[in-house]
Amino acid sequence: MMNYLVVGMGKTGESTARFLLNRGEKVLGYDDHKKWSDISPNILNHPAFSPLRPIDLSKLNRRKIQECIVSPGVPSYHPILAKCEQERIPIVSEVELACRMLHFPLIGITGSNGKSTTVALIGHILNRAGFSAFVGGNFGTPLIDSISFPTSYQWGVVELSSFQLERIVSARFQVAGILNLSPNHLDRHNTFRDYFFQKRNIFINQKKEDRAIVNFSIPSWHTQLCPMIRSSIIPVTGLGQLQEGFYWKNQKIVERFEGKERKIDCLNWHLPGEHNRENLLFATAVCRVVGVGVDQIEESLSTFQGLSHRIQKVAEINGVVFYDDSKSTTPASTCAAINSLNGPIVLLLGGRSKIKDFSEFTQYLSPAKIKMILLFGEDRELIQKFIPESIPTRLFSNLDEIFSNIRSLVVPGDCVLLSPACTSWDQYANYQERGEHFFRLVYGNS
Ligand code: ADP
Repeated sequence: MMNYLVVGMGKTGESTARFLLNRGEKVLGYDDHKKWSDISPNILNHPAFSPLRPIDLSKLNRRKIQECIVSPGVPSYHPILAKCEQERIPIVSEVELACRMLHFPLIGITGSNGKSTTVALIGHILNRAGFSAFVGGNFGTPLIDSISFPTSYQWGVVELSSFQLERIVSARFQVAGILNLSPNHLDRHNTFRDYFFQKRNIFINQKKEDRAIVNFSIPSWHTQLCPMIRSSIIPVTGLGQLQEGFYWKNQKIVERFEGKERKIDCLNWHLPGEHNRENLLFATAVCRVVGVGVDQIEESLSTFQGLSHRIQKVAEINGVVFYDDSKSTTPASTCAAINSLNGPIVLLLGGRSKIKDFSEFTQYLSPAKIKMILLFGEDRELIQKFIPESIPTRLFSNLDEIFSNIRSLVVPGDCVLLSPACTSWDQYANYQERGEHFFRLVYGNS
C-alpha cells in the first residue's frame, strides 16, 4: 500500500494524519521541530503511522508516496518539498484534501490582515441568523476536521493563508474574497507579485454562478484582479461610493444593485477602528450574498465581541488604559491599531520582525499621537534605526523589563498599546502566549 506524507505535524498536520489514518491509509509524518513525544499518542502509536526522520529523506520516491499534504507553516522552499517535486510526488494543502470530500459550500476569506476577525464575524452573523456554519481553517479548527463532525453544515466559513492557497488544485470557494494585501511573509514568498498570485488562487476554481467579493479601495484591483475572475464580482469599498456594491455612508452600509438601495444600520457595531469597519463591510457583503436578511445582520452586530489579542482592552489602571494587540505581527496591523486609538500612545514594539526595512512604517508615526516607543525583543535595535528622533524611544530586552519601569513612563490619560508589528517567536511560542504574558504583567503578576 502507498503512503501519504504529512509535512508539518502541528495542529493541521495532526488533524490531517488522524483523518487519513481513520480512513485506513498509511501515513508518514515529518516535522523539523516537533519532538515525536509531543505528537498525540493516538497518532504516534497507530500501527499505520511512521515518523519520517530527516535522514530518510533520500528514500522518498513516487513508488512509496502517493501524495504529500503540506501544513500551512512549512515554507515552499523546504528541502522535503523540493525532494517531492523532484520525485513528482503531488503536493497539496490540507484544504485541498478536505475539499475533495466536503458536502457543503465554502466561503473562503484571505488577505494580509483581518482574516480571523472577518471569518469569526461571518460565522457569528450566519449562526445568529439560523444558518448552520462551520467556522475555521487557518484559524481555529482545521477544515479537514469538519468531515468527521456529525453535523451537516449549510456553509463552511474558512480562513485561508497564502500558503494554503499555494497548494490547491480543485478546491472551490463558492463565495471568496481577498480583504487586503500588504507586504507580509515576504520571507517566504519571493516577491509581492508571488504573494498576490497565491492569494488570487482563491478565485481560480470558481464557477460563473459563484461570487467574488473584491475590495475596490485598492485601485489596481479593478484593472489587475477583476479580469482574472470568472464569477460574479461584488464590489465593496471603505472609501467613497459605488454604482454597484457595498459601501459606507455615515453609520450605515449601503447595498446598491441595479439602481436599488438598501441600508444596513451599524449603530450596534462597537469594534474599534477603520480597519474593523472594512472587516464589517466585507462580512456584510458575504452574508447578504448568501441570503441573510438586513435585520438579521443589524441584530447580530451588538453581540459580536471580537477576538482576543486584537486591540483588546485589558484594563484601566490609575487612568492608564492598556490594550493588547499581540496578534499584530506586521506594520500594517500596528498602523491600524494606532489609527483606532486616541493618543497619547505608549507603543510597545518588537520581537522577531518579518521585514528588514521599517522606513515606510515609521513615517506614519507622529509625535502628536505617539508619546513614546518602548522597543523590546530580538529586533529592537534594527527597528530603532528607523524611528524618527522626534519620538522618545527606550530599549528593553523583554516585556518584564518594560513593566519593571512602566510606572515611571506613563501618566493618567495615556494608552499603553502592545502592538508589536513583529512575530513573537524570539521569546514566545505564539502571539497568544505573548498577549497572555502582557495581560499578567498589566495585572501585576508576571
Ligand atoms: P489575520 O487573521 O489576517 O491575521 P486578525 O483578524 O487576526 O487577522 O487580525 C490581525 C491583526 O491585524 C490585529 O492586530 C488586528 O487588529 C489587525 N487587523 C484586523 N483587521 C485588519 C484590517 N482590515 N486591516 C489592517 N489590520 C487589521
